[in-house]
Amino acid sequence: MTGWGDVDLKWKLSRAVTAALGVALLAGCATGLPAGGITPSVDSAAASAPVEPSPTATVTTPPPTASATPTPTPTPTPTPKPGKPAKDTRKGAELDIPYTVNGIIVVSPKHPVSKKYLPERVKPNGLTAETQAALDELTKAAKKDGLTVKVRSAYRSYAEQAKLLKQKIIEYGDEKKARRYNAEAGKSEHQTGLAVDLWDGKTWGDGIRNTKLGKWLWKHAREYGFILRYPPGKEKITGYIYEAWHFRYIGADSLKFKPNDTKTLEEYLGIS
Ligand SMILES: [Zn+2]
Repeated sequence: MTGWGDVDLKWKLSRAVTAALGVALLAGCATGLPAGGITPSVDSAAASAPVEPSPTATVTTPPPTASATPTPTPTPTPTPKPGKPAKDTRKGAELDIPYTVNGIIVVSPKHPVSKKYLPERVKPNGLTAETQAALDELTKAAKKDGLTVKVRSAYRSYAEQAKLLKQKIIEYGDEKKARRYNAEAGKSEHQTGLAVDLWDGKTWGDGIRNTKLGKWLWKHAREYGFILRYPPGKEKITGYIYEAWHFRYIGADSLKFKPNDTKTLEEYLGIS
């Protein structure tokens, strides 16, 4: 059982290690402006500047008279409605940048990207620097619990995804089935460098759900920024069948998911 305090500490440690990398990542990753992101306020400096004290502070201000000119009402700034993410209206070259809600990238059958979308990645798995650092932490923690975490698949380019789907259709001899498990190019999270398929090096496929590691991951991955991205019974929402091996890095938001949660990212972001 891991208390919230522990989780917090892990985050702090993990964040400290990756802080520098994270900054570089944010700068290099053309993810577009996340909703509610950093919006420097032009007026904030002026608004918070101290008012110069008047040398004649003792002079009493005459009370306002009825004939005084009314202060013009400032035009209110429209505030976006909370909990209502902007609709994904991207098309053409706009697909070079992924759909992002509250700073979280969403790539799925409903929210594709073009082949030009190339996130900054690091060795050895082609994951983003922050994802790789988080995966390292997760792997260390699993090892402490006597479990081995192996990466089966991580980054895949648009072209690689296209090739993979083609191969799987031939392998399964069933296009429909192949498409349930394998994304079309541009619709796979593996192109984001934020998704990773994990296993114990022995049991691959559906059997992972019953392995010690499979169970551990679903319970604990959230403590390291990852969520089980395609939980059981949510195929209609995610577009993919239950994948006990596919974990998606979303950062600290993962703590909003419970251990063994079947909530999807779509439901969490309010776009299901
Ligand atoms: Zn996967």
